[in-house]
Amino acid sequence: MKKKEFKAESKKLMDLMINSIYTNKEIFLREIISNASDALDKLHYESLTNKSMKVDPKKLDIIISIDKDNRKLIISDNGIGMTKDELETNLGTIARSGSLDFKENNESKKNIDIIGQFGVGFYSAFMVAKKVEVVSKAYGSDEANIWTSEGVDGYQIESTKKENSGTDVILTLKDDNDDENYSKFLENYELESLIKKYSDYITYPIKMTKDSKEEVINDLVPIWKRNKKSIKDEEYNTFYADKFMDYEPPITRIHTSAEGTIEYNSLIFIPSHASFDFYTKEYEKGLQLYSNGVLIMEKCPDLVPDYLSFIKGVVDSPDLPLNISRETIQQNRVLKTIANSIENKILKELEELRDNKRDDYNKFFESFGMQLKYGVYADYGMYKDKIQDLIMFVSSKDKKLSTLKEYTDRMKKDQNIIYYACGESVDKVDLLPQVDAVKERGFEVLYCTDYVDEFAIKMLQKYNDKEFKNVCDETLELDSKEEVEELNKKNEKSKDMFNIMKEAIPEIKDIRFTNKLKNHPVCLSTSGPVSVEMEKAMNAIPNEAGIKAEKILEINENHEIVKKLEGLYKKDKEELKKYAKVLYAQSLLIEGLSIENPTEISNLIVDIMSK
Ligand code: ADP
Repeated sequence: MKKKEFKAESKKLMDLMINSIYTNKEIFLREIISNASDALDKLHYESLTNKSMKVDPKKLDIIISIDKDNRKLIISDNGIGMTKDELETNLGTIARSGSLDFKENNESKKNIDIIGQFGVGFYSAFMVAKKVEVVSKAYGSDEANIWTSEGVDGYQIESTKKENSGTDVILTLKDDNDDENYSKFLENYELESLIKKYSDYITYPIKMTKDSKEEVINDLVPIWKRNKKSIKDEEYNTFYADKFMDYEPPITRIHTSAEGTIEYNSLIFIPSHASFDFYTKEYEKGLQLYSNGVLIMEKCPDLVPDYLSFIKGVVDSPDLPLNISRETIQQNRVLKTIANSIENKILKELEELRDNKRDDYNKFFESFGMQLKYGVYADYGMYKDKIQDLIMFVSSKDKKLSTLKEYTDRMKKDQNIIYYACGESVDKVDLLPQVDAVKERGFEVLYCTDYVDEFAIKMLQKYNDKEFKNVCDETLELDSKEEVEELNKKNEKSKDMFNIMKEAIPEIKDIRFTNKLKNHPVCLSTSGPVSVEMEKAMNAIPNEAGIKAEKILEINENHEIVKKLEGLYKKDKEELKKYAKVLYAQSLLIEGLSIENPTEISNLIVDIMSK
């Protein structure tokens, strides 16, 4: 039989495995047992819908056996098995290429972390084995095949004999050397402790023969059905890492067992970081759904509202029918009730973190805050009341994240407005002249640096009866009546000068003096519903391009430049127009907007400088 080559990326991963310096090689066993458990799940699951299949769920198991003389460790399951084609596609190509991409894109994170905790599946066997054989017979087939490989060179598949359907994975262990004792994986006690450590939650019996007696090693009750008091953090974390392939422990978990009209157990995790695909289209939200310990859906999206799409976990209820389908699930009353209670529990847990473990909450918020803000804005604000107290913004007070309640609690007696400002980064927003003006009057400003921030704020409109206002909004009223009147008079007097300036910059709605700027000569404010940041965000969406904020050029009434402008208005109106163009360009730059004709502006500046 001719040897076949592995697909290129499989080869790369296998090479990484064989030459791994990873000290935690023992995880190979977890990976192989987990595959066996999946194969048993698949058989069980199929037999539930296909009446012609006669499967006795009590007979499904995983058997670990040892042949010390030949250095062989064998992991057998009587699950769904693989056909010849399946052996070829499943073991010839790597399924989890995601983990490989991840490794390549994150060179700074050591390979080690990735191999150990991300989970790389079947190929991890090559960390400990010099030869791997997989003997498999698919359920319902008469043929069995053996897949053999001794590493990167390739693999071969031949037909063979096997009595029952299922799969035997036969590892011939590497020879011991100074650094590594592979023989320990041929010892009962070592294997037993590894099974306890990594695979205790597996719902099928894992059996080993000890002193000629067959024993079940794992605790067959799944972790989510056990009493929480008996479960150590480490057990939860191992379960999480293995089940959801996350190399960092979760921020928190919510383990519930509900009794009453609807019975269910759930174990929900809030991850501590966004997975590499979280903000991509490929990401699918959902929780694993079990009916009395039997997996009935891998990712049930109806259990998770979009704004909480980052949560991971399992839900198990004896009140759910085994043959539930994606279509009928949406109407299922039991599922709706469970979904509601999970949503409430998570919201409560997040509030708890926010109030009592702020560091953890901040970390959580850095990863998933965008998701929550999106939740405020999505579905026409349907969820905003539930979420508004969970979102945070960096405040001008200390450049730290603040909730809206914290902001309003700190508000001065005479302050009726929640001020916010938008920009690319905290540092850039902090430099905006308008922000300065508001801070100068002793008010705090919330900094919006995510594109979704202002959309969320617009959806909220108010918090605790306090209105939100962009510091760049033209209707920002910081002054007393008298001050306003005085400014209005001044603007009225200069109306004609402004009209001439406007001829040079027809794209703006208005020009006027302002008294809110300290040192800066100009700033840009907007009128109407679209702010400058929203203009930027909308123009990034292809079909929305062309939406423009109504811009107002504001000139600092106390700045030296005013005298110059007034002088030009009397002597040289053409020169005044040039100044108008340059000042407008400056205000655009300060806002992080681009200038339509930079060459013209550059020439104008040089022209003015040379006078
Ligand atoms: P993953 O488990 O993430 O899919 P693996 O590399 O561990 O990736 O396994 C590749 C594929 O090989 C599995 O998806 C499965 O289809 C098949 N497989 C592995 N072990 C078994 C087994 N014991 N029984 C049936 N199929 C298996």
